[in-house]
Amino acid sequence: MGSSKGVESRILLQRLRAVMAEAGEGQDRLNSIVRLIAESMAAEVCSIYLRRDEQTLELCATEGLRAEAVHNTRLRIGEGLVGRVVKSANPVNEADAPKAKGFSYRPETGEEIYSSFLGVPISRLGAVLGVVVVQNTAPRIYTDDEIYALEIVAMVLAEMTELGVFAGPDDLSVPTQHSWPFFARGLIGQEGAAEGVVLLHEQQVVVANPVADDPDVEMAKLAAAIETLQSEVDRMYEADFAHEAGDHRDVLDTYRMFAQDRGWRRRMEASIDSGLAAIVAVEREQTSTRMRMERVADPYIRERLHDLDDLSNRLLRILSGGEGANGRDIPDNAVLVARNIGPGELLDYAGKIIGVVLEEGSVGSHAAIVARALAIPLVIQAEHISREALNGDPILVDGDSGVVHLRPEEKIVAAFREKLAMQAEAQHEYAALRDLPAETRNGVVVDLHMNAGLMADLPSLNTCGAQGVGLYRTELQFLIHARMPRRDDLVSLYTRVMDAAGDMPVTFRTLDIGSDKVLPYLKRVEEPNPALGWRAIRVGLDRPGVMRMQLQALIRAAKGRPLRVMFPFVAETDEYLQARDMVHAEIAREVAHKHVVPSDLKIGAMLETPSLAYAPDMFFKTTDFLSIGGNDLKQFFFAADRENELVRRRYDTLNLSFLDFIEHIVKRCTAARTPVSFCGEDAGRPLEALALAAMGLRNLSMRPASVGPVKRILRLVDLDDARAVISSARERGEISARPALTDWIAKLVS
Ligand code: PEP
Ligand code: MG
Repeated sequence: MGSSKGVESRILLQRLRAVMAEAGEGQDRLNSIVRLIAESMAAEVCSIYLRRDEQTLELCATEGLRAEAVHNTRLRIGEGLVGRVVKSANPVNEADAPKAKGFSYRPETGEEIYSSFLGVPISRLGAVLGVVVVQNTAPRIYTDDEIYALEIVAMVLAEMTELGVFAGPDDLSVPTQHSWPFFARGLIGQEGAAEGVVLLHEQQVVVANPVADDPDVEMAKLAAAIETLQSEVDRMYEADFAHEAGDHRDVLDTYRMFAQDRGWRRRMEASIDSGLAAIVAVEREQTSTRMRMERVADPYIRERLHDLDDLSNRLLRILSGGEGANGRDIPDNAVLVARNIGPGELLDYAGKIIGVVLEEGSVGSHAAIVARALAIPLVIQAEHISREALNGDPILVDGDSGVVHLRPEEKIVAAFREKLAMQAEAQHEYAALRDLPAETRNGVVVDLHMNAGLMADLPSLNTCGAQGVGLYRTELQFLIHARMPRRDDLVSLYTRVMDAAGDMPVTFRTLDIGSDKVLPYLKRVEEPNPALGWRAIRVGLDRPGVMRMQLQALIRAAKGRPLRVMFPFVAETDEYLQARDMVHAEIAREVAHKHVVPSDLKIGAMLETPSLAYAPDMFFKTTDFLSIGGNDLKQFFFAADRENELVRRRYDTLNLSFLDFIEHIVKRCTAARTPVSFCGEDAGRPLEALALAAMGLRNLSMRPASVGPVKRILRLVDLDDARAVISSARERGEISARPALTDWIAKLVS
């Protein structure tokens, strides 16, 4: 069985394995390997370069070049032909190397006499760990078969490097991959800092024996694993069958297509035929998928490549007999590192991790929402983190600046610990304020509530010093599940929420879906501008089934207790009135069924569109309460997408026009005697909270971790003075109140 090129590389791999089996230092092994490759490929030179750190490659062994160059010749990534191999992650094949673009002359190697050059990356799962090179004096282009053979050898070298087979005892010895410090600047997903060790979501597969003992056995292993994979995917597909088509379904369709794809399978079989173990054959395929992923810009194709990558992951897990996330031993200080993660999967780690770092993700992603609920720092879009990190690596996550340090140097750790100590001290201070009111120096009391949406949030209610839940985002429960919850599920969930809150009020917001919040099981409607589209109450009124079910569940969960419900994204009076009628209809229905109804009912609206600020007086008088959804209101006020990194931070909440607008809303509510609160993220930022209070707001709702810092600043200030600072900034024609307020506070605390 097998092609001729398969047989050739198989013989080479068998000899390679014999070398590996001999005892000896890493360096001796590397020396034997370069000798063996040179001999087998009739090359005068064979050299192995490995990465010394992120930017540098080091000549670690050679047959043919001068011995004194070993561990002395270093190249930067991109420098010389070897550096070009790393940069392009592709073979470089040149007949006249000294004349080739980018050739870098290193006199210590004596390589100028060799004309032909073939360099192949030593890469594993998308990370280039080094380069293996063969050279000859006679100018020639290496054949496809030769490139293929060297690639197969490089695959085995990658496994060996990863296993630390070449590592030596001292600093001059061969570097191991993943030993140097790595730094990533990502984006802030959730503030906070954590020091811990890496826990990879996608488990690292350890390959003890990359060379196949018997290709037939490996072929059978691959076939069995693909069969298991196909039935896994079919099961997922069947389980999903009862539901409507949607994105989720598209993913499964793609999975299914790939799982049955002959080309995918054939490529892996060819690698086994060449002498690789089944598991390495899958890794080889995955490496090439990841390399393609780096190069492809088209988001649709990237998504499909991701699906293929996920499928390879599953196959690797099947072949290695690995466990899923839940069956693992998780250290106390684990920081989860993943390319991306679904909200449900992240929730499985609740209480077991202290931080999350994602290579992808967006600020508004569901995983980010869950991380916020779990109150752990989250950094997103940390480039290359998932391929650089290994389980157990020390890691520092700075969620305040979106920075991650992997395997950090001592001085970085020391500075970071100082920051942690300062945070701990501040926490101490906030804890001391927990039972005190947020009362300003001039005697104004601001009620502070917390935002919630998952059961995981609720324990904070007793510890953060909030007076209730000002915004319970009910859609989060819908988002983290693979299917639509039933009414009974909702009744028991809302009952648990109200039980946990005890006497404290909870304001439930009805389902706010659409825009960035897409339910995996509902058919997605393609819209040109989802943020301005069919979302929140618009869906609730047009398709009232789900909202009705939710209202019934809330009424039943209240079991005779007071109930507060509010509707998201109301843009005109009529929408509020229709929604309110729905609540009354459900109450009447419960009464007719002789069920208990809430002892007190308050029906409110979120003010998230500028139009509502100019609604008729009647609107303000009719609503029981209003809550300003500052996240949305601000995006519509400035016409700047809250999800778009290019514009998200462009406009300041403390912009004086925006503060004027807030004051206008507060005045209208005050005139109508309608209670008003502010529940956007800005309520949790101390300076913003102070400005909002100065504009007349007496009720703010924020994430639990913000209650302490906001309380502290409010207790420090006289609100009349704060108002005066803002007014004079306005009179001076300033755009934002931030500089003036910042100066004023700095003086106040110094
Ligand atoms: C808001 O828009 O400010 C708000 C609180 O709602 P969400 O962030 O859930 O859209
Ligand atoms: Mg909103």
